[in-house]
Amino acid sequence: MKYGLIADIHANLEALTAVLKVLEDEAVDRVVCAGDIIGYGADPRECIARVRDLDAICVAGNHDYAVVGQTPIDYFNPFAREAVLWTQDQLGKEEHDFIGEMSLMRQLDGFTIVHASPEAPAEWNYVYSTHEAARSFDALETRLCFNAHSHIAVVFVANGSCRTLAPADMPISPQYRYIVNMGSVGQPRDGDYRASCCLYDSGTFSLQMKRVEYDVDLARRKIIEAGLPHVLALRLLRGE
Ligand code: ZN
Repeated sequence: MKYGLIADIHANLEALTAVLKVLEDEAVDRVVCAGDIIGYGADPRECIARVRDLDAICVAGNHDYAVVGQTPIDYFNPFAREAVLWTQDQLGKEEHDFIGEMSLMRQLDGFTIVHASPEAPAEWNYVYSTHEAARSFDALETRLCFNAHSHIAVVFVANGSCRTLAPADMPISPQYRYIVNMGSVGQPRDGDYRASCCLYDSGTFSLQMKRVEYDVDLARRKIIEAGLPHVLALRLLRGE
């Protein structure tokens, strides 16, 4: 089974469209979304519709749950909070229900999907360090986990100790355990503005990390035209 893994779309329709084209060209069998379809960008309804049309396997992110009132927004920075409130006004009941019904963590085909850290998914902790990854490995029931939230593509591997690997194409060794962050589709923060996604083949146990060019100028213009904070448009080009 060939999976296309996406996360942190953040209502960036241009980035999502470009990534889905790549996943289609790669003939993936199933799309998996590790949360944050919405928040920050100008096209929440369209992005939800695209993900629903794909019948993607989804878990919720903190922005998703914030928009439907299922997680508090007091710890959000002012720009994120403004985007959450703006997004709330955009959604109809159907979209609201779709977002609210997503769970925090799922297991399928030998892997786990979760937006933040698997030991306490509702607390939205980041997995940046090997220390944080080691704690996450302890909480996992599968050898492989895909997470998101940091918007930084990275692979953690546990084989006795816990190490960080650059997000490269690699085989998954059955003796080791992995936490793979596929990076962000709609708001990368690793200095590369291109949309990020990942392919995983559960038959050959191989990972492929991808970066995809998209119309970042159009996405930026839409954010400004929607009246969202300009900083949310600026950061797209900087990949931060
Ligand atoms: Zn996010």
